[in-house]
Amino acid sequence: MKALVMGGGMSGLATAINLLDLGYEVELVEADAIFGGRASSWRDEDGDMIDNALHVFFPYYANLMQFFRKMGIEDQILWKQTELYYMQEGGREAVLRFAPLPAPLHAAAAFLTLLKSYRNVPRWRSLFAAAAMGRAATYSERKLEKLDEITFGQWAYRLSPAHAFLPLEPGINGLTFTPSWMVSAKVMLNWFRKISADRDSARVGFANGGLGDIWVDTCLDYIRDNGGVAELRKAVTSINLKGTGVKSVTVNGEEERTADLYVSCLTPFALRKALPDEAFRFKYFRDLWCFHRAPSLSLQVWFDRKLTGIDVTIFSNNCIFNTFADLSNVLPHVFSGGSMFEMVLAPADDIEGLPDDVIFDIAIAQIRSLFPAAREAEVRKYKVVRERQGVYRAWPGMEQRRPYQRSPLDNLYLAGDYTRTHVSSGGMEAAIWTANHCAEIIALDKLGKAHTLNVEWKPRKGLMPFIKPAFQAGGALAFLALSRRLRKS
Ligand SMILES: Cc1cc2nc3c(=O)[nH]c(=O)nc-3n(C[C@H](O)[C@H](O)[C@H](O)COP(=O)(O)OP(=O)(O)OC[C@H]3O[C@@H](n4cnc5c(N)ncnc54)[C@H](O)[C@@H]3O)c2cc1C
Repeated sequence: MKALVMGGGMSGLATAINLLDLGYEVELVEADAIFGGRASSWRDEDGDMIDNALHVFFPYYANLMQFFRKMGIEDQILWKQTELYYMQEGGREAVLRFAPLPAPLHAAAAFLTLLKSYRNVPRWRSLFAAAAMGRAATYSERKLEKLDEITFGQWAYRLSPAHAFLPLEPGINGLTFTPSWMVSAKVMLNWFRKISADRDSARVGFANGGLGDIWVDTCLDYIRDNGGVAELRKAVTSINLKGTGVKSVTVNGEEERTADLYVSCLTPFALRKALPDEAFRFKYFRDLWCFHRAPSLSLQVWFDRKLTGIDVTIFSNNCIFNTFADLSNVLPHVFSGGSMFEMVLAPADDIEGLPDDVIFDIAIAQIRSLFPAAREAEVRKYKVVRERQGVYRAWPGMEQRRPYQRSPLDNLYLAGDYTRTHVSSGGMEAAIWTANHCAEIIALDKLGKAHTLNVEWKPRKGLMPFIKPAFQAGGALAFLALSRRLRKS
């Protein structure tokens, strides 16, 4: 039995590996000149490492970590302490430091440490935000699902005064490349619940070197050692149907490839271009046109001196970069000498059309205002990465549009970070979860056997089971006190 995997990003390489393990003969075609898709890296003309973008890993990436363990590269993720920094004008730092306490006390303590030095919002407003987040922690899964009908901004305005959630904006922008007034409330609350589930859940991991260096070659070796074929510069230009299935796939407009089974690990934008007109008679495929790009850019800047000692993710409000890290602190064995800032520029809707030097000029002025040491520093070089950018825009309603991995065609399956999963709205964990689930249903449909790959992430519960009853008891007491008072007066 032969499988043709289309796309050699994280979901494509993981799918190829999963299908080889199921006994399939695997051929993988990738349009680009490198494998790894959006989670890739390469060396520039000076030999410096360029990441397609800053990528961070979270402890809830249970399936990605399981996959890395299987590939023998689990130790290539460097886990950092449970701290997230905010840089404010004039070099004023604020820190969100999760305390070694049971949930949710660890998050409450973190919030109080942040309030000490975060200046962009008056403290009383932030208290509303904290209370709203406390409530969100008690939401049922059903209630969370319903919140895909409204934006995070709408949810926030229902429960708090304007701008109360400003400290969360850089995280929202860096994760979804979408402003809070546009992103689904469900998507963001799901993520906040995961990273604040317990103290360890808030750690962030970084690739120990170039992102592509740590995983791409190992996966390719596994594929080739097990008899699979993976080819570059082979763009799928059309998917050809016959009856209720796929007959063949055309590559580079001329080569016809056939297989028993076809798996698309393309982005929704590439897949809908390759599908023939008749495919859109199915609502399943029509929904692919509901996906819109949330654009991003990536910027790396090398300085001749150190600007900060922070070795974890840094957030900033009101800059074109919202989430960034100084990789000379995170990976001192890779970036020695001065600071090397790797920054995600998102949402990039209003800047992606600008020339590189204009983008850099805006960014460097903002860096100098946040890091006084940068005013004296010389920029050795910078690089704006425009290729392989963006995610789909996770605005309300999209959770329902995400296609399930089994398509209505007999022999076509889909994987990729945008396809349906409960783990997140996108990202590397979604890429691996969907690649695993795709193999699970192929095993069931085509080989008639149960095959379990995905695992569920389970944080420690801490005091969380007592929070909802505490809220209810508090509400009841307040009601009693109020009615007593009214009766007296
Ligand atoms: C700026 C940025 C920052 C990010 N940060 C994080 C982060 O911190 N944490 C996190 O978890 N995730 C992050 N992500 C998301 C993460 O990179 C993706 O979720 C993940 O890499 C998606 O993998 P994928 O295989 O689903 O898609 P892709 O990596 O997009 O793979 C699709 C592949 O298909 C190929 N292809 C396209 N068209 C064709 C065609 N016609 N024929 C053949 N091949 C084709 C592409 O070249 C590509 O290799 C970030 C993404 C970006 C852009």
